Order: sequence, then structure tokens, then C-alpha cells
Amino acid sequence: MLRLGVDPSGLGAAPIEEVTIHSPARSVTAALPFRALSLSRYRLDEALLQCAERRGAQLKRNVAVRSVRPGDAGWNVECDDGESIHCRHLVLATGKKGMRGLSDERNGSLVGMKMHLRPSASVRRALEGRVELSFLNDSYIGLELIEDDIANLCFLLPGAVVARLGSGWPAMQSHLAAALPGLAERLDGAEPLWDRPVAVVCPTGAYLHREPGTAVYRVGDRLAHIPPFTGDGLAIALASAALAVEHIRLGRPPATYLAAARSLTGKAIRLASVVSCLAKSRGGRTALLGAAACAPGLIEAIVRRTRVPLAAHGL
Ligand SMILES: Cc1cc2nc3c(=O)[nH]c(=O)nc-3n(C[C@H](O)[C@H](O)[C@H](O)COP(=O)(O)OP(=O)(O)OC[C@H]3O[C@@H](n4cnc5c(N)ncnc54)[C@H](O)[C@@H]3O)c2cc1C
Repeated sequence: MLRLGVDPSGLGAAPIEEVTIHSPARSVTAALPFRALSLSRYRLDEALLQCAERRGAQLKRNVAVRSVRPGDAGWNVECDDGESIHCRHLVLATGKKGMRGLSDERNGSLVGMKMHLRPSASVRRALEGRVELSFLNDSYIGLELIEDDIANLCFLLPGAVVARLGSGWPAMQSHLAAALPGLAERLDGAEPLWDRPVAVVCPTGAYLHREPGTAVYRVGDRLAHIPPFTGDGLAIALASAALAVEHIRLGRPPATYLAAARSLTGKAIRLASVVSCLAKSRGGRTALLGAAACAPGLIEAIVRRTRVPLAAHGL
């Protein structure tokens, strides 16, 4: 990030040095093997966009791509403002959303939600330096401070549960509080900063793209989806984008990039997928937290091994 010219601490990111994992029955706290930084996407994305612009990128804001089609020696990109762009290389970075004209086979039965809250002073103090994760069947909930003493609550819920609850915050808060008494204490007295959480449809489980003969450089969630409790999705997005740019500069085709990107992300995604599967059942959660309580290095080892190995790939 610093190499790009973006300094998260300078943008107000909150430092995170430990993780507490809650289940309804017990909680375990462990130090992180590194100092993490917690910042809203609004602030980070704006800084990244400004950085790209300073380096000569032309941005089109509030314009959606409608479809892409292979054209003469490249691609034709149709935008919803009527403009049609021809490009030699296509880097697909549309996150959880697919793109008309490009095949994709993902099942999105979960909904990822994000809510910003102003916590009470005592909860703010309790959250300083810490990310709190809770697991329920098919669900994960993460709470941490971001800039300006705001708390960011992220969670995944099955689409059917969201359809039943509706999109408003009060019903969602009651649902989470009823399932997790520890989280209920954190949310008690917190001022919601939005009427409703921001929502996005998410794939179930992990995903790593495989497409022999691919003609597109897929980056971020379009390349690989790591279960979000790891907090490494953004690192994967930035690292895969850097790898794609390097391959394009060197004239290497998308299939060569895809092999390198799979090797960069594969191990972390496989381990995160195993932990995520275990955390889905009550027995798996009890076993995981029991083992973590007896072996204090276990959580640290899982955190370390669910990071993409940036240095090993020169990133
Ligand atoms: C609940 C939850 C919690 C998470 N927590 C963390 C965390 O703590 N740390 C972490 O690192 N990661 C976390 N992640 C994962 C992280 O959000 C993603 O891995 C990351 O955002 C992927 O980046 P991306 O650039 O691929 O996609 P995005 O960040 O989703 O960006 C895609 C962009 O493309 C735009 N777009 C889509 N379609 C079109 C179109 N047709 N035309 C134009 N633009 C389009 C979208 O509007 C969006 O701006 C979490 C995810 C979830 C669901």
C-alpha cells in the first residue's frame, strides 16, 4: 500500500493487534502475528482512486459497464453512458458481480452486509486494538473500529434469513443480538450511522477461478474469493492486480497470469476454506475454540497461513 503512495495510518486507520473469537459458549483471544490496520472502504478506495489518477489513469465514475465482447485484437466494452471503449487487454475487477459476455459459475446464496455504528465509550475502549469475530451456522460476524472511532460491523447471512428479516437495521440487530449475547452487549447503545446495512450477494464458501484458455486477466474477487473472516480479501485484490499489471507489461498471456495468481492465493484459500467448513457446525466450532484455548499458537498459525505470501512473489 505504501509503495502505491497510500498510507492507511495517515488516512486515520485504527491499529489492530489481537483477535477475539466468540461462540455462544466460549471466547478465545490471541495476538495477531502482525499489526493490522482497519480503515473504511470509502476512505481507502478514494485514496486509491486519487493515486491512480495522479499516475495517469483515466477514471469514469458512476458509469457501469453493460457488457464486454471480443473485438479486433482486443475487447469492446459497452458502458451505460453510451460510450464504447476498445482495449487491447481486459482486466476484470467487478468484485462479487459477474459481467455480461463472460462466463462464470458461482452460486451466491449468502448476503454480505456492512453497517457503521458509533459505539458507546466503554465499547469503544473495549474494541481498541482488537477485531472480534463470531461464528454461527453459515454466518460470520466481524466487529472492529475504523477511522474516527466508528465501529464497522460486517456479517454474512443466508439469503433466506435476510429475505425474512428485511433490510432494515433494527430487525437485523435483534436477530444478531438474540443469537450472540456477547455481540448484543457490544451493540447495546451503539448509534447506527445508516438506516440499513450495505448488502452484496456473496458466493458460498471459497472460490478460485479455473478456466483453461482464458482471455481475461481476472483480479480480486473475480479471481479468488477467500472466506471473509480471514480479512485478506483486499490484499488478494491488490496483489492480484499488481501481478496482472506485471504480466501485461511483460507481454505474458492471461493463462500464464492465472497460473501465477492461483499459486499466489491457492494455499491461503484452501486453509481458510477448511476453517470455514469447520466453523459452520456447532461441533466444529467447539473443537476449534477448544483446541485454540489449549494451544495458544493455533490462531496465530491460522492467521499467518491464511495470508497471501506477498514477499515470496516479489509483491
Ligand atoms: C462481510 C464481508 C467482510 C469482509 N471483510 C474483509 C476484511 O475485513 N478485510 C479484507 O481485506 N477483505 C474483507 N472482505 C473481502 C473484500 O471486501 C473483497 O475481497 C474485496 O473487496 C475484493 O476487491 P475487488 O476489487 O475484487 O471487489 P470490490 O471491492 O467489490 O470492487 C468491485 C468494484 O467494481 C464495481 N463494479 C461491479 N460491476 C461493475 C460494472 N458492471 N461496471 C462498473 N463497475 C462495476 C463495483 O461497484 C465495485 O466498486 C469482506 C467481504 C465481506 C462480504
